[in-house]
Amino acid sequence: MKPRDAMYIDGQWQKAAGQDTIAVVNPADEQVIGHVPAGTAQDVDAAVRAARDAFPRWARTLPAERAARIAALRDVLVARKDEIAETVTAELGAPPAFSQAVHAGVPVLVAGSYAELAATYSFEEKIGNSTVFLEPVGVVGAITPWNYPLHQIVAKVAPALAAGCTVVLKPAEDTPLTAQLFAEAVDEAGIPAGVFNLVTGLGPVAGQALAGHEGVDLVSFTGSTAVGRKIGATAGAAVKRVALELGGKSANVILPGADLAKAVNVGIANVMGNSGQTCSAWTRMLVHEDQYDEAVATAAAAVTKYTVGDRVGPLVNAKQQARVRGYIEKGVEEGARLVAGGPEAPLDTGYYVAPTVFADVTPDMTVAQEEIFGPVVCILKYADEDEALRVANGTVYGLAGAVWAADEAEAVAFARRMDTGQVDINGGRFNPLAPFGGYKQSGVGRELGPHGLSEYLQTKSLQF
Ligand code: NAD
Repeated sequence: MKPRDAMYIDGQWQKAAGQDTIAVVNPADEQVIGHVPAGTAQDVDAAVRAARDAFPRWARTLPAERAARIAALRDVLVARKDEIAETVTAELGAPPAFSQAVHAGVPVLVAGSYAELAATYSFEEKIGNSTVFLEPVGVVGAITPWNYPLHQIVAKVAPALAAGCTVVLKPAEDTPLTAQLFAEAVDEAGIPAGVFNLVTGLGPVAGQALAGHEGVDLVSFTGSTAVGRKIGATAGAAVKRVALELGGKSANVILPGADLAKAVNVGIANVMGNSGQTCSAWTRMLVHEDQYDEAVATAAAAVTKYTVGDRVGPLVNAKQQARVRGYIEKGVEEGARLVAGGPEAPLDTGYYVAPTVFADVTPDMTVAQEEIFGPVVCILKYADEDEALRVANGTVYGLAGAVWAADEAEAVAFARRMDTGQVDINGGRFNPLAPFGGYKQSGVGRELGPHGLSEYLQTKSLQF
């Protein structure tokens, strides 16, 4: 992917209003691989105006036509899968196999699911003497993070387009090349001018201008809780719809009687994938005291498979690397026991962090409470189910989790008591149609599937 010195606005690649650029760095070798424009409020304004102009016509298209355009977009994503994977590897550092399977693969599934939903969803319902129409909310300001650069974009843009909304996207500054590639795919898919617009730029400049723009009807944000709080306040003050997908600190609860080896191995794999930069990662492993030592030994052995630079990529940038190493130091300071990894950088070049496992973690420790966003697993001990539940629910977050038990019904009963938005039972598979989103401070709103589509719709009821 050759970086473009332009923004995609109103169906054209247009020069930015200002001269500033953002350097894109490959985190594996620390080399600059390109520059993209650093958009300003002026660029955001042009993009929002294009989206507003395109809205009435796009909102009126038949769902079947929108479905056809989204299906065409999915087909372009399939055709350009290798280029997508290479681009994500270059700017995020994900190992090539992971980029192919997950970073390029999942967006194809999600785009495909919305092509189908747009065609089959009922945008009209009857309630007693009323007919309720589900109408698009309007212009969407989408702000995305770098951790799953294409997935985060598709999980917002595909349902917005399916609903009949138009979009202005401000992607993360670390991964703008994937976003440019996506804009090319939108263009190739024949989506009309102005329906999708891209403004690259810095969060506090372009992102803030987008969130606060009066021409935006709904802000959909994925990223940190700190920024999400600000965006929620801005949107609230303007009485605007807002969706927030924020951080997590999910629990992997292993009940006595579960397949311990499988639960520990899958738990470690879940965190090590994407170098721990997954908001829904099960970063706290909860094990019964009778099985604790065995679980710790299994985890220490499991993590040795994750060789740095091969199966585990770097973190996205030097700041994230320093932050995660700081958390590991804090864990040691507070008395957690390192059984694998540690704060030292494992390679001289690249923003790598050693895959790390902490034992003897107590629920009050910083590493058990705060989102680390790196390849770090904390193993905690519980004496009975009530304690396991208290610990699992004992953070400000509630995004995801896992429960393992000998009996599925036992795992389900535990999962129903967890304050969290998604739980995998005995290693349940990813479902691109299942609603994804948080309880508590993990966010507001849901993405994916029909629940994700409804975020972009508002109701109008006619009484007869
Ligand atoms: P971040 O909040 O700093 O940035 C996310 C996006 O917001 C970027 O596009 C950024 O440019 C923009 N932004 C930053 N400041 C802004 C402002 N003042 N106004 C408007 N936009 C602004 O987060 P990050 O460091 O890029 O991502 C890591 C965090 O995101 C982690 O905490 C992680 O848990 C969270 N995350 C959550 C999910 C989820 O689905 N719940 C998914 C991915 C990441």
